[in-house]
Amino acid sequence: MIKNNIERINMKDEFYGLTNDKMLALKAVQTILKNGEKYLVTEADASKGADFCFVCKKPIGQPHSFGCACFHKEMKIGVSVEYPARVPVYWTKDDFISHRTSLDARQSMDVFINDLYDLEPEERDYYGESIKYECLDEDGDAIFNRNSE
Ligand SMILES: [Zn+2]
Repeated sequence: MIKNNIERINMKDEFYGLTNDKMLALKAVQTILKNGEKYLVTEADASKGADFCFVCKKPIGQPHSFGCACFHKEMKIGVSVEYPARVPVYWTKDDFISHRTSLDARQSMDVFINDLYDLEPEERDYYGESIKYECLDEDGDAIFNRNSE
């Protein structure tokens, strides 16, 4: 029953008008929607007092639409950016490298995030120009936002 509803919804609402690239990208979401009973719109997806998903507008109890932001995938990316890191005034380049390479993975990510967080807004404007993104893998699996259960 749910599967039939999903297929009907796909054909009627979501697939028409999409490019081949988009259709291929959305195929990953089909895997999730094949288990559609797990991914129905619930009250948690609706605005207070509303009876539909606040993103895709599907009613509570029906599957989210393919294009709903409740579904996403992860692309593996690489980023390089220049920015001024705040370090003790007596540090040399070697001190900096020694410190940063001594951190474990979690600490390293936390320090990087804190470095960026410490930038003033005008510094973000300026150094943001230097950000270079690289997509290392675009074929991540579709993920439902509430898949933590
Ligand atoms: Zn939705």
